[in-house]
Amino acid sequence: MPKTRLHSPSSSIRPGEKTSEEADAFRAKFPGYAKHGSKFDRAIDTVLAGGVKESVFLPSGRKVITVVGRLGDEFIDPDKPYCSCSNFFFKVLGGREETCYHLLSYRMAAETGRLDVVKFSDEEYGAYLAATVRDVFEVLRKSAS
Ligand SMILES: [Zn+2]
Repeated sequence: MPKTRLHSPSSSIRPGEKTSEEADAFRAKFPGYAKHGSKFDRAIDTVLAGGVKESVFLPSGRKVITVVGRLGDEFIDPDKPYCSCSNFFFKVLGGREETCYHLLSYRMAAETGRLDVVKFSDEEYGAYLAATVRDVFEVLRKSAS
C-alpha cells in the first residue's frame, strides 16, 4: 500500500483534540504555544467562538478587554499582564504557571484579527464596568463553590 500521509510531529492527533481546519491553522500559526497543552486548546476554542472582546469607549479611546470563559466573563489586561480568573490568581501569580488561557486567547485573537471590537460612548463606561464587574464576581462565586 502506498503511503499517502506525510508524517510530522505536529500532525499527530491525540484523543479529544479538535481537528477542524481552523483549529489546525491556529496550531500551525502558534507552534510556541503548544507547550501550554490543554490551555492552548481551550484558547483556540475561545478565539474561534469569538470570545475575546475589546470594548472601546469613545471619544476617550479607553479600552476594556474581556474574555468569555467557561463560567462567564473575565477581565484581562494583556499589558500588565493581568486576568481576573482564579487560575491566574493562584497559579500564575504564585509562580507555578506562566499564563492562563484567557491571556493566551487574547494574544492569539489580537494577532489574527479576531478581536470582537465593540464601541461604546464614554457615558456608558460606568454602567458597562458595573455590569462586567458583577459578571466577574458571579464567576468567582461559582468557581469558589
Ligand atoms: Zn484567566
